Amino acid sequence: MELLDVDKLIEEFESMTKDAGNVQRETLKKILEENGCAEYLQNLGLNGRTDPESFKACVPLVTHNDLQPYIQRIVDGSSSPILTGKPITTISLSSGTTQGKPKFVPFNDELMETTLQIYRTSYAFRTREFPIENGKALQLIYSSKQSKTKGGLIAGTATTNVFRNSQYKNTMKAMQSQCCSPDEVIFGPDFHQSLYCHLLCGLIFHEEIQFISSTFSHSIVHAFRTFEQVWEELCADIREGVLTSRITFPSVRSAMAKLLKPNPELADLIHKKCLGLNNWYGLIPELFPNVKYIYGIMTGSMEPYLKKLRHYARDLPLISADYGSSEGWIGANVNPNVPPELATYVVLPDIGYFEFIPLKENVEEANPVGLTEVKVGEEYEVIITSFAGLYRYRLGDVVKVTGFHNLSPELKFICRRNLMLTINIDKNTEKDLQLAVEAASKLNTEEKLEVLDFSSHVDLSTNPGHYVIFWEISGEVREEVLEECCNCLDRSFVDAGYVSSRKINAIGPLELRVVQRGTFQKILNHYVGLGAALSQFKTPRCVGSTNNEVLQILCNNVVKSYFSTAF
Ligand code: AMP
Repeated sequence: MELLDVDKLIEEFESMTKDAGNVQRETLKKILEENGCAEYLQNLGLNGRTDPESFKACVPLVTHNDLQPYIQRIVDGSSSPILTGKPITTISLSSGTTQGKPKFVPFNDELMETTLQIYRTSYAFRTREFPIENGKALQLIYSSKQSKTKGGLIAGTATTNVFRNSQYKNTMKAMQSQCCSPDEVIFGPDFHQSLYCHLLCGLIFHEEIQFISSTFSHSIVHAFRTFEQVWEELCADIREGVLTSRITFPSVRSAMAKLLKPNPELADLIHKKCLGLNNWYGLIPELFPNVKYIYGIMTGSMEPYLKKLRHYARDLPLISADYGSSEGWIGANVNPNVPPELATYVVLPDIGYFEFIPLKENVEEANPVGLTEVKVGEEYEVIITSFAGLYRYRLGDVVKVTGFHNLSPELKFICRRNLMLTINIDKNTEKDLQLAVEAASKLNTEEKLEVLDFSSHVDLSTNPGHYVIFWEISGEVREEVLEECCNCLDRSFVDAGYVSSRKINAIGPLELRVVQRGTFQKILNHYVGLGAALSQFKTPRCVGSTNNEVLQILCNNVVKSYFSTAF
């Protein structure tokens, strides 16, 4: 297997972004030519036109809801060209965690190719800054089951569809990024067992591991939190060369048996290293002496896990992975030197056709603008037109343009578009909630308290309604501190609508509910049970009343609750 030609990849990316406007026109033309015979486009009266102006005039902006009837027919097995020229044979389950249900979106060879293209692009830039040797990667990746829809299509999460594609492995080899775990572990039927085996494989190959990665960085933090619980069992397995009886699936057991040999020296070494750590600080470089960096999506709803990740990683670079979704890819991280808090993504102008709805003060302006028309400093909602049957599709993400790489914009991910916390004239987003939680948890540094995870809910059963914030915390914390955290949360929602409503008691005092340890694990299990993959898991940051099961998990596990006295 030949290694990728990094210089050539960078050169191609530079020349493409220098010509972003033309590349976008060409990309739209290609998408419309390939799919012009699809029923959806036929009905819109484009009559073979492929220019952006006609496209905008004929094709409406849509949400997933609008496309649902078309997608459903594909799922049910209709083989006529509905959204794409070539029939769709695979479906991705996008994580609709806020709605409580996964959504279906089409997946095809073109989407697979763009996925590999973005992987290769960011790899080229990353490897130029942080070269890796020909070793292995501890990839904390999991694949959900692929099932068949009623109409006979293969359905799985997008990551599953990617990991199961034969080209994926070849590309990983060319990127010197082969997973240290056998396929049976990645595709194992139970993610708890897969996670344990990933850790075990990582330890067996500890000197060869070059980097640690996952799709979303939550999985890395989750894995090392689990390590804290199971490290002695892992050591015992290595010492004896026998896998714990907790791993029950024969395929996983036999794959692991091939790797596991009695190795008391390694077991002693790991044992000693673990005992030598203070509160697990620096665990990753201690266990994996040749790791060059940690890699995974670290922005947006992953930001709250950075603190814990840094704790485990000590001074290893944390590099945020690219920006995309099950619906299609958007941008690559080509500045791997930048810390995740400042990470931006340069749009690849040939992987889709992109438009942006300007948002001022969260009010949208009527006319979406093209890729090269966006302005630095402004926020936009992303619209994508893909090679996989989505035309002017509102992704629901808010991004900010921070600059340009040649002529292609650099986007900073801000948040999901849907307002989360709103009772009357108040409007608070995921980002506002994240900032409030960050501010309140800073009060705790002296208390050795850590907010492990959080979510929120608008409680309208009280009069007036009020915001509820759920916290899972570690450590013993004094009541007074939590009372002060609750007040701080209330004060940190600085949106004028919220503050004025609080002052006149049109919104009641904010409530902080502390939940038992393990509550967010139960939520994760709930979603995995619904068919979500751990690889794509994002904690729902706001749980609506319609998402009854998750709300029940949260409410049934409350151990203490506090009401703000801030107003
Ligand atoms: P999924 O539906 O599981 O494919 O998740 C896609 C969503 O994850 C996107 O619409 C974003 O909201 C979020 N996401 C993906 N990549 C990033 C990133 N690099 N930074 C922040 N959020 C991201």
